[in-house]
Amino acid sequence: MAQYDYLIVGSGLYGAVFAHEAKEKGKKCLVIEKRNHIGGNIYCKNMDGINVHYYGGHIFHTSIKKIWDYVNQFVEFNNYVNSPIANYKGELYNLPFNMNTFHQMWGVVTPKEAEIKIAEQRAVIKHEPQNLEEQAISLVGTDIYEKLIKGYTEKQWGRTCKELPAFIIKRLPVRYTYDNNYFNDRYQGVPVGGYNVLIENLLKGVEVRLECDFNKDKAKWKALADKVVYTGAIDEYFDYKFGELEYRGLHFEIEKYDEANYQGVAAVNYTDAETPYTRIIEHKHFEFGTQPVTYITKEYPADWYKGEEAYYPVNDAKNEALYQQYAELADKEPNTIFGGRLGEYKYYDMDKVIDSALQLVEKKLK
Ligand code: UDP
Repeated sequence: MAQYDYLIVGSGLYGAVFAHEAKEKGKKCLVIEKRNHIGGNIYCKNMDGINVHYYGGHIFHTSIKKIWDYVNQFVEFNNYVNSPIANYKGELYNLPFNMNTFHQMWGVVTPKEAEIKIAEQRAVIKHEPQNLEEQAISLVGTDIYEKLIKGYTEKQWGRTCKELPAFIIKRLPVRYTYDNNYFNDRYQGVPVGGYNVLIENLLKGVEVRLECDFNKDKAKWKALADKVVYTGAIDEYFDYKFGELEYRGLHFEIEKYDEANYQGVAAVNYTDAETPYTRIIEHKHFEFGTQPVTYITKEYPADWYKGEEAYYPVNDAKNEALYQQYAELADKEPNTIFGGRLGEYKYYDMDKVIDSALQLVEKKLK
């Protein structure tokens, strides 16, 4: 008999939700975490009373009522609505692409005028969009593509828009209304007191060991439990036997300013190709902070090298095919379940991660 029913590798949202549910169902769980803190990439560090989203800004949004009710059991969410500003060489535009953006770009006032403008520009695309560039132009035309999409996207992904899949840009709403809400989802907010409250409450009563790297001694860790829920990178679990999956990396530069309000909004996207960072996050605005100081994070996209934190899976055809090979191996590991952004190599939003963990619970923990 192993000491634990479940060893959960990684204390991000997927691992924390699974651990909570398994504990509730009487399972003995051990969560191990490679870093020196819990929460994965939603971890916040409190600095002068401001919850700094340490691995980049996170805004919770969902249309799934079950998931909204679920997270609200653990923490209260505020009424933050994400409305980022795009800065293109000093010109400011509202995001996502909506009537405000169209007015700022072309001076159009009515939805009909905006539709005519976009229809003219979209005419260059004569077939079903095959890549992100064609998809973007067919959604919003060439001007918005050139000023607000091309530079940002190519910096973020380190690839040209012609090489990227169309679905990435479909994440963003395009609206013919004067509505700057970045998301279409019914429910949205940021946890009052930061994301750590959510993670800490999920993991209440669960044994957690920090600074333990599963992949450094797989056999030792596996021997501790009947089953493993693994939320790390799937290729690392299999010692990269088919080769390395590619990820996109990020570097963050946190700066403190002795002023109450640095940029007047939580997120400003720098959409030109030359500015080396993609966005500046001013954390206090996520919680309507009134502190006399402020913290900002500049987010620099970066090539990713083995051993660094992986942020975004690169879901192009080559990497998808490689992932499928690993997924087939994973199916043959009866006692290990692979989950989350890295375990499933999927560009998951937070609500989808929770949904996926709860589906696993349904399947495995009846
Ligand atoms: N995007 C863009 N311009 C922007 C913001 C986003 O072109 O100002 C595109 C870009 O291709 C990006 C995608 O939309 O990869 C998704 O952006 P989102 O903000 O949803 O990404 P995340 O917050 O997950 O990094």
